[in-house]
Amino acid sequence: MTAKKIVIVEDETDIREVLIYNFEREGFTVWGAGDGRYGLKLIQDKNPDLVLLDLMLPGLDGLEICRELKNDKTTAAIPIIMVTAKGEEGDIVAGLELGADDYVTKPFSPKELMARAQAVLRRGRALPAAANDKRIECDGLIIDIERHLVIVDGETVSSFTATELKLFHFLAFNAGRVFTRDHLLSRVMGEESFVVDRNIDVHIQAIRKKIGRERKIIETIRGIGYRFRDTGE
Ligand code: CA
Repeated sequence: MTAKKIVIVEDETDIREVLIYNFEREGFTVWGAGDGRYGLKLIQDKNPDLVLLDLMLPGLDGLEICRELKNDKTTAAIPIIMVTAKGEEGDIVAGLELGADDYVTKPFSPKELMARAQAVLRRGRALPAAANDKRIECDGLIIDIERHLVIVDGETVSSFTATELKLFHFLAFNAGRVFTRDHLLSRVMGEESFVVDRNIDVHIQAIRKKIGRERKIIETIRGIGYRFRDTGE
């Protein structure tokens, strides 16, 4: 197996060193940058499997780097995990909407970050596409979009609206990934003119109510959005 490549862009030297140490120990080939412009150049040159991106950076900030990478089709599919400080929810939302895959908030444990990194790598390089796996099964839950069916622990829940089903299926298909409300609106409902209520929270609430005791499977990420729990993590 060839080593996975990672570029770490973080201007705080001690955090960068800890990250480099941990990823090297896990067998990654690692490049570190303490400056935004150099970081962007490294990513473009090395074409890594994963980028860890601090948001507050000298030179070029993390959101700009994210935008540049996502606007260039040679780098658009490289997964990005943002490394953020507390209180940067607005920036996290902006980053996720630009296409970043995930984020961790400082201070974080290297173990947690490694788990997130592995989850992102598992999900692969693909951009989050519209869900195309028609039937999803996990943890006693079946979501079958073709047959318009949700089954919770063997019990069919028949009251799902088309919008709720589509939203639930999209979240489950992209389990582990955080989506902002705007993201969900445009990804899931963008093209649907019949959607009367464009308030995502209302739909999520309705889904949780209908699935009853499985409701914790959709997590609210405070200040940011929603995530279907990744049971593989
Ligand atoms: Ca910083």
